Amino acid sequence: MELFVATGNAHKLIELGPALPGQVLRSPADAGIEGFDVVEDGATFLENAVKKAVALHRLVGKPSLADDSGLSVRALGGAPGVLSARYGSIDGRRKLEAAERNAYLLANMEAHEDRACAFVCCLVLVLAEDRVFAVQETCPGELLRAPRGSGGFGYDPVVYLPELGKSVAELAIGEKNRLSHRGRACARMAALLAELESRP
Ligand code: IMP
Repeated sequence: MELFVATGNAHKLIELGPALPGQVLRSPADAGIEGFDVVEDGATFLENAVKKAVALHRLVGKPSLADDSGLSVRALGGAPGVLSARYGSIDGRRKLEAAERNAYLLANMEAHEDRACAFVCCLVLVLAEDRVFAVQETCPGELLRAPRGSGGFGYDPVVYLPELGKSVAELAIGEKNRLSHRGRACARMAALLAELESRP
């Protein structure tokens, strides 16, 4: 199926492609929409993903997919959560670089022994205004005390997966796709898409 993906984040498109085999992913720019941007003011990943997928569907009139994701840290009451991309920016103005954001997060966590965290990914598919499907998955881990690894993006270098003995930034892309919040949500979405294609 041809799917328009409601993101300007190239990393996400790179990770979504192999995780949704058989689907033809298009960016908003492929439909002539430059600078696609939606105010992500929802209280949950689900609200934001619905908002982005519905907005893109209204613009392109074709099946649209949105991802809203972030890192939730238990000792911080779930922060940065839906504010993951803007965490640490002052008055929502200058967005920090990923390395600065990670340093800010680790500084806020210095006094905390509880290092439990989870990446969360919500994927929403809009086939028509009244046909909307959502899946949400997690990838639990532990916050490191210092960044490790150079792969991936965002918070990957500060999240450790104890069962693998690696940070997410130390995973090969195939391994990340299989285990990550986005990989797990994509596996569910891929199954749903296969079902929808066999029984439209
Ligand atoms: P959004 O989904 O575009 O609102 O962005 C969520 C933010 O969460 C990103 O800018 C990253 O900081 C973070 N994030 C989401 N997924 C990942 C991931 O797979 N690895 C590391 N950070 C992520």
